[in-house]
Amino acid sequence: MIADLSAADLDSLLARARADYDAFRAKGLKLDMTRGKPAPEQLDLAEGMLALPGNRDHLSEAGEDARNYGGLQGLAETRALFARTLGASPDRIVVGDNSSLALMHDSLVYALLKGVPGSAKPWGREPDVAFLCPTPGYDRHFAICEEYGVRMIPVPLTGDGPDMDKVEELVRDPAVKGMWNVPKYANPSGDVYSDETIRRLARMTTAAPDFRLFWDNAYVLHHLTDDGREILNVLDACAEAGHPDRAFVFASTSKMTLAGAGLAFFASSPANVAWLLASASKRTIGPDKLNQLRHVRFLKDHDGLVAHMAKHKALLAPKFAAVDEALEARLAGTGAARWTKPEGGYFISVDVVEGTASRVVQLAKDAGLLLTGAGATWPKGKDPRDQNLRLAPSFPSLSDVKAASEGIAICILLAAAEAESA
Ligand code: PLP
Repeated sequence: MIADLSAADLDSLLARARADYDAFRAKGLKLDMTRGKPAPEQLDLAEGMLALPGNRDHLSEAGEDARNYGGLQGLAETRALFARTLGASPDRIVVGDNSSLALMHDSLVYALLKGVPGSAKPWGREPDVAFLCPTPGYDRHFAICEEYGVRMIPVPLTGDGPDMDKVEELVRDPAVKGMWNVPKYANPSGDVYSDETIRRLARMTTAAPDFRLFWDNAYVLHHLTDDGREILNVLDACAEAGHPDRAFVFASTSKMTLAGAGLAFFASSPANVAWLLASASKRTIGPDKLNQLRHVRFLKDHDGLVAHMAKHKALLAPKFAAVDEALEARLAGTGAARWTKPEGGYFISVDVVEGTASRVVQLAKDAGLLLTGAGATWPKGKDPRDQNLRLAPSFPSLSDVKAASEGIAICILLAAAEAESA
């Protein structure tokens, strides 16, 4: 442990860490570990989709012309294909266009402007609206809240989901109208919500009668191991607990098929589905149903989808292993960092020595290695301990991931040695 070193040993560690850093910087590499995007090889897996649905193939099973307007809720066969993934029957699913983030954004905006089923008035007419934000979390969730003046309350994650004692206490405040959740392989912590966490979220007493769980199951099928994790069905758990309208479930095929041309989903209770469709009908005459047909033709059924996701795993798992090996090789036993070993998803979360995350990002940048800004995983971009880093190994090639991970470990160790010497 660096903290236990004698002054002389600390001096020699600092000298070695500086020499390693200078050697890394001298390589003049250009590396980028900021983007949680699929790599080109992953997009190639869905290249066959570009030729679908193909000439003259534009009719749904019900005989609707997918080229035309209409079909606001989405084609029945598309909803059926994703029903198991979403944990909802097809009548409780809405298929949107290519971005689940857009559906989350719109759901919050509609809630602010009009309220949700069970609201006494639009959320925006309340004196104060707050969301619980399990942290570290997804910066774009936090950005939506910031944009519309929703107060964010960080809640620590435990590995099994949020600290539920804190959550149950905080929802006693009627200003708390909602909560962000990435329940499986969370961005960036890798948390997988336990059954008990989900049951407690479903049954807890909230002061706001129209409280909503924004349940962003973005990584529902995105396993990195052979035995992917299953979590409790939140819609069923909420219904069983007597709160059938509590959860808005979101997901998308952005990291299944094509990140810029996938399908997004909303799944919820009949009342919530009717609520969303009522507002959506003012916004659009209907979604891109040719893309819905394309997904059905390409993936065929749930088994086809699962088989497709196994190909992603084969490309991604070695990259995650490479990060872990590089961090382990230089940082094990030093006390300079703790990092996650996610079983799925797109990120590794690293906690470095308190007060050094910004320094690590700067050192990396100076050596040609781009990392997500320190603080990005916290509401308003402010990590009070300046401690958390988010690594995104999906996009660069495996050899770049290896080089970048070694560089990251070097920067973390140097920043830790500097801090200890100061
Ligand atoms: N939700 C989470 C947790 C994500 O990490 C991401 C992308 O990184 C998204 C949503 C974006 O989803 P979409 O492409 O469907 O808008």
